[in-house]
Amino acid sequence: MAKFLDLDELSEEDRMLREEVHRFAEEVIRPASLELDRMPPDERIKPDSPYFKVMKQMKKLGYHRSYLPEGKGGLGLTPLQRYIIFEELAWGSLGFATGLGVDMIPFVCAALYGTPEIYEDLVRPWIEDEDGKFHGCWGVTEPEHGSDYLISLREDPELTIKFGKGNVVAEKDGDEWVITGQKSAWVSSAPVATHCGLHAQVKGSKMLGDGLFCIVPLDAEGVRKGKPVDMLGMRDDPQGELFFDNVRIPEHYVVVAPGFFYGIFYDQLLCLTSCGMGAFAVGLARACFEEALNYARQRVQGGVPIIKHKNVKLKLYEMFEKVETARYYVRKVTEYTHRRIIDHQTADASPRHARAAQIYAKKIAYEVAHDAVQIFGAYGLNKEFIIEKLFRDARSMLIEDGTVEVLSLEAAEDVAENYEKEFYDVGHITRLFDMG
Ligand SMILES: Cc1cc2nc3c(=O)[nH]c(=O)nc-3n(C[C@H](O)[C@H](O)[C@H](O)COP(=O)(O)OP(=O)(O)OC[C@H]3O[C@@H](n4cnc5c(N)ncnc54)[C@H](O)[C@@H]3O)c2cc1C
Repeated sequence: MAKFLDLDELSEEDRMLREEVHRFAEEVIRPASLELDRMPPDERIKPDSPYFKVMKQMKKLGYHRSYLPEGKGGLGLTPLQRYIIFEELAWGSLGFATGLGVDMIPFVCAALYGTPEIYEDLVRPWIEDEDGKFHGCWGVTEPEHGSDYLISLREDPELTIKFGKGNVVAEKDGDEWVITGQKSAWVSSAPVATHCGLHAQVKGSKMLGDGLFCIVPLDAEGVRKGKPVDMLGMRDDPQGELFFDNVRIPEHYVVVAPGFFYGIFYDQLLCLTSCGMGAFAVGLARACFEEALNYARQRVQGGVPIIKHKNVKLKLYEMFEKVETARYYVRKVTEYTHRRIIDHQTADASPRHARAAQIYAKKIAYEVAHDAVQIFGAYGLNKEFIIEKLFRDARSMLIEDGTVEVLSLEAAEDVAENYEKEFYDVGHITRLFDMG
């Protein structure tokens, strides 16, 4: 059970939800994530892999529906409740929390911004899935464009030309779009996914940001998946490349068409993913803190449990302080962001605050994981203890969903442009994306 004082004084319903998700994270997700962490990449994606068993259970519990608005198949959760689900899942495993997060991206975006036809064709079957038949992923980064995809949001249009062309391009042909190219090996869940929420540059356009967002069923003719990659961290969610060779999709699978809204959409989607990453980072940091606290109470050195030594006690206090401060900032920003994007569907969340939540929480997760390993001494480097895995996951987070440096540069640009404004100024970003 999650037993800690919650300054938000959660309602009975919130507390019950937290306990339910925590139990699932502790009893189901954690053991499976440790098993996956030690398996070779090819084994992790075999049909009898623990990955599919856990995902199936998550679908049965309906967690994949948590980000949908109530009228579009959602569970009627508050933003705080959505936050609670993500923190608890990530306490259990960053990989499974990420797996659930990327599963939602194509379908939630289609529910929010797509046509009724795509809702019926793709979103409804995904909502009703209780067997883990469907799994989404999010294809953004490309072999030649990692950080470029973030920087292109606010960079001067003249300068974005230096990024060169996208590695994945889309071309209209009658009432279909044709997709060609390759996404990078880091697409989370790609080896196990059935659908990709894909960003592609319009063929022949000037800059990377002249794009569209569509859903590509990964069993379509011309799609090929790369082998799952062997990473340092987050090994419990398989990652791999996606190749598209003249893949045809119907026009209504384009969720956000090329034009000025694409930039706003992408910026707002990054607000949602930033809040998600913030919650994951707090959950991971809390897991590290709790492991270190328990260990320090038991390990005896100098004739006393090491927690009695002032340096260890103080380090633990600093870890606690970081987890608590990060949690409340990420929660507040999540509430603000979700009210706008999911509940009111107004697309006016604040990118600079969402990025700050993600950046701050990722940094504290890494610091807390680092300090936790130190408290464990040599045992902290040993695979027998979970802290070693949590540290590798925390290290990966500094790169996942944008490196902290590039996210910070991108947020800095927004602060410089918009600090005095009380609202999200879509004018600037609209101008950038309306060049074509
Ligand atoms: C665990 C994990 C999960 C991921 N999941 C997904 C996913 O689901 N979907 C997906 O599409 N991608 C995913 N990624 C990819 C991730 O978004 C990219 O790795 C990230 O954006 C960085 O891109 P890159 O790795 O190509 O690094 P690069 O962009 O090559 O950056 C290399 C270094 O240069 C710095 N740098 C780059 N550009 C600039 C600049 N303009 N100014 C200053 N410094 C710069 C960076 O900070 C970094 O230190 C994932 C990555 C990880 C690690």
